[in-house]
Amino acid sequence: MKALLSIDYTEDFVATDGALTTGEAGQGIEEALVEITRNFIENGEFVAFAIDAHDPNDQYHPENKLFPPHNVIGTDGRHLYGKLAPLYDANRDKETVYWFDKRHYSAFSGTDLDIRLRERGITEVHITGVCTDICVLHTAVDAYNLGYQIVIHEKAVQSFDAQGHEWALRHFKNTLGAVIV
Ligand code: ZN
Repeated sequence: MKALLSIDYTEDFVATDGALTTGEAGQGIEEALVEITRNFIENGEFVAFAIDAHDPNDQYHPENKLFPPHNVIGTDGRHLYGKLAPLYDANRDKETVYWFDKRHYSAFSGTDLDIRLRERGITEVHITGVCTDICVLHTAVDAYNLGYQIVIHEKAVQSFDAQGHEWALRHFKNTLGAVIV
């Protein structure tokens, strides 16, 4: 059994005026990312939208010292970007479509994602979204440590750091044993 983990494809990470945007690089994967997501939803497979949820006034959160405020709770920056938004809205009530607010890079950190996957007998996670070398990377590392098979959709991940993107793709393949498709 497989699942799709859709990471942080939001206005703040993708829109031209987003707070921490991947810009044209991130916008360039919209069609592929939406197509993959639609296929998973139509096949009745588990789809997890794992989305940053930040409070810029949280003095205990290390990201507040590292990055400008982004994906702030209650702002439009947290909305899914482009055609992914209506796709999610049209399917959000399906029992296979889940939303996970996350505080950290990894979709597994502080969420019950691992339990939800195990309950369903899911052993293989497919990952799309941004950024390849930050939230996608940390999610993939946690998935590796939890024993999941990993598939990375190369045309549906991106970063604001082109070198980091390329490095992460090599790391997925050579160090995490991921399949790159
Ligand atoms: Zn963040």
